[in-house]
Amino acid sequence: MRIGKPHTHRKTFAAAAVACLLAAATTLPAQAAGEPAAKAQLAPLVDGMYPSLESLYKDLHSHPEIAFQEVKTSARLADEMRKLGFEVTEKVGRTGVVAIYKNGAGPTVLVRTDMDALPMEEKTGLPYASKVKTESNGRETFVAHSCGHDIHMATWVGTARTLLGMKDQWKGTLMFVAQPAEEIVSGAKAMLDDGLYTRFGKPDLAFGLHTSPGPYGVVGYRAGPVSSNSDALDITFKGRGGHGSAPDKTIDPIVIAAHFITNVQSVVSREKDPAQFGVVTVGAVQAGTVGNIIPDQAVLRGTIRSYTPEVREKLLDGVRRTANASAMMAGAPEPSVDLKAGGAAIVNDAALVSRTVPALKAVLGDKNVVEVPPISASEDFSEFANAGVPAMFFFVGVYSPDDIAASRKPGGKPLPFNHSPFFAPVPEQSIKTGVQAMSVAVMTAMAK
Ligand SMILES: [Zn+2]
Ligand SMILES: [Zn+2]
Repeated sequence: MRIGKPHTHRKTFAAAAVACLLAAATTLPAQAAGEPAAKAQLAPLVDGMYPSLESLYKDLHSHPEIAFQEVKTSARLADEMRKLGFEVTEKVGRTGVVAIYKNGAGPTVLVRTDMDALPMEEKTGLPYASKVKTESNGRETFVAHSCGHDIHMATWVGTARTLLGMKDQWKGTLMFVAQPAEEIVSGAKAMLDDGLYTRFGKPDLAFGLHTSPGPYGVVGYRAGPVSSNSDALDITFKGRGGHGSAPDKTIDPIVIAAHFITNVQSVVSREKDPAQFGVVTVGAVQAGTVGNIIPDQAVLRGTIRSYTPEVREKLLDGVRRTANASAMMAGAPEPSVDLKAGGAAIVNDAALVSRTVPALKAVLGDKNVVEVPPISASEDFSEFANAGVPAMFFFVGVYSPDDIAASRKPGGKPLPFNHSPFFAPVPEQSIKTGVQAMSVAVMTAMAK
């Protein structure tokens, strides 16, 4: 999950999933898997394999690698999958892994994990905390799995093992994909550009999951938009530099930038449908050196978030128009406005969600499968879906329900969210629930 700025929202559960609405009905099997049989078999199977998944998790956690540097991580995952009998191809989209397992005629189902960690210092104090450092953008930095992608990887391997242990209950082709560079919203595209769907075949369905700071044992889902469109804003206002005491001899780009920063919020509050989600944040302002010089330019960087294409267009247009108008108002040259498309929103396929949720409830219990609101963060799992594959992305909680209850009491300390240096999932319940949920989702889609 990529969060544009350190977020402050208190939602304890975030949901996600992707939906390309194309032809979902035709690719979905007619009947859900044998749920009672699955339930009886699943828990003992997952319990039995858990010790090895925990050691895999702790190893990955202690040896994190940042985006596109997932060399040891991808080799480890490739090795795990080869041992299971998957046909494994490495270096797809630089460090990505594709593992295929054929089990008779049936749909091809993509199961995705991400692999990258973040360039930040872990401060959890856990015995298996990362102390790793690497180079990022020419600077030395600590590295930490503070987004839970290590939980995703252990869950992914556990799901593969579970599905192979229950392969009499489903048929079709498993397409397990370990993608690099989710945090910079680049890895999924890198794999697709490297022929993921042409070299290995286009899957019929895709599943992904993400940790969230909700209660462990609980899965959060929703149909429709799950994560946000994310676009980057990079604007340079050009002025005319001069002495701070003689502004009439200059064009002050800082005043232009200030107008823009304030007025662009009217695009959000006055132009966008107030019932629709949309955010424009200017997170970086760079201009000037000292107090008595009016600089000749001001550079702004920010992020633009939305769920729907309509709101996205409205915000992008409003940002562009407000930037140009702010410059025009000051008689300044036209600004350079660079709006880079980032990740698209994940939109979960409604038909797939409505087929999968009852199966999840049958195994995890009704109260442990909850509908959640969309998150304002972004995720490039959307790339796999937007290539025309109905998909579902869901959330797995990582904290003890007691700790969550305590954190909500007056004076309680909020639990760390993803990307916090203190983010510390409880491995056992998080991984076990993830494995059970993902295995059930896949088996339901591939039921005999
Ligand atoms: Zn993240
Ligand atoms: Zn993430």
